Amino acid sequence: MSIDMAPRTVATLTGEPILEIRDLAVDYGYGADPVHALRGVSLTLHRGEVLGIAGESGCGKSTLVYAATRLLPPPGIIVGGEVRYHDPDGAGPVDILRMPDRDLRAARWQDTAIVFQGAMNSLNPVYRIGRQIVDAIAAHRPHTSRAERLERARELLVMVGIDADRVRSFPHELSGGMRQRVMIAMALALEPRVLILDEPTTALDVVMQRQILEQIMELRDRLGFAVIFITHDVSLLVEVADHIAIMYAGEIVEEADARDVYRRPRHPYSHGLLHSFPPLHGPRRPLAGIPGSPPDLQALPTGCPFHSRCPAALPECATVHPELGPTALLEPGRRVACLLHDGEHELPEILTG
Ligand code: SF4
Repeated sequence: MSIDMAPRTVATLTGEPILEIRDLAVDYGYGADPVHALRGVSLTLHRGEVLGIAGESGCGKSTLVYAATRLLPPPGIIVGGEVRYHDPDGAGPVDILRMPDRDLRAARWQDTAIVFQGAMNSLNPVYRIGRQIVDAIAAHRPHTSRAERLERARELLVMVGIDADRVRSFPHELSGGMRQRVMIAMALALEPRVLILDEPTTALDVVMQRQILEQIMELRDRLGFAVIFITHDVSLLVEVADHIAIMYAGEIVEEADARDVYRRPRHPYSHGLLHSFPPLHGPRRPLAGIPGSPPDLQALPTGCPFHSRCPAALPECATVHPELGPTALLEPGRRVACLLHDGEHELPEILTG
C-alpha cells in the first residue's frame, strides 16, 4: 500500500461521530497559580476517520488525549468539559469523564486503545512477547482459553507484519520497529473502535516510520477503527490524516480537512509549522521555522497567545483573544482562531500564496 495525497475513504467525515470532546479544560497543579494546559478544547472524531493533532512540544496535544481517556497522571486535573463516546451498540452517548470506574476499565482497550509515546520500551524484558499479548487479552476476555489467546496473539503479530513464530521471542530479540508493532498489535487485540497513537513512530528511523504508518492505515481501512494521531511533524500528518487540528498553547487554533491545511493554512502558526518541516510531496520550499518560543502557560499573555511570534500580528492582537470558529471567508468545515479572518482585514501574503 502506498500513502499519498489522493482522496481517502469518502464516508469518513460524513460518518457518525464516535468521540465528541466538548470544552475540555485541564490544569496542572493546585493552588492559586495552576498551569492552564488545556482551555476549552472541542473536537469531533468520526467513525473510521483519521484525526491528526499537531503542534510544538508542550502545546497540550498529549494532555488532550490523556484527559479524554481519563489517563491523565497527577498533578493534571480536568477542570471542565465532557467527552461523549458514541457506542454504536449502546443506547446513546456516554460521558467518559463521568463514567463509573468499573465501566471505564471495561471500556478501555475495548472501545478506546492507546499506543503511548515510546511504548516499545514498556514491554517487559523478561517475558516472551506472546505471553505479554496473551496476558493483555486474558485481562479483558477471561472467558477465552489459553490456546485461543495464543492463537489470537499469533494472528495479531501477522496482522502487524511480524512472523507468528515471534510469539516466542523476548523483546530484546526484536528491533525497535518490531517492538513498536507489537505494541500496536496489543492495542488492536480487543478490536477497539478508536485507536489513539501518541507520537508512535518518533523514536524510529524514517524508513521504519513510514512502514509502520502504512501498516496502521492499511489496518484502519480493513478493520474500520477511527484514529487520533498525535505528532509534532505536521507534514507527516498531512499524509495520513483526513482531518487536522493544530494546537498552540493549550488551544486549537486551526481545524480543517488535511488537504486544505496543507494547501492553504489559514492560521499564521499553521503556516509556520508547515514551513518548519520539509514537504514530503510537491516542490521544495524554504524552511523558515517559527521564531521565539511558546508562552508560559502559568502566565498567559492577553490577546492572542501567538501574538509575540506572529509575523502578521495586528495591534489589537495583543489585547483581543481570537475565538475558534468558521467565518464566511473560510471553506466549509474549517475553523480558525485568528483576528485576520474577521472580514475587515486584508490577508497577508503568507495566507494567500
Ligand atoms: Fe497573528 Fe493576530 Fe491572528 Fe494571532 S490573531 S495569529 S497574532 S494575526
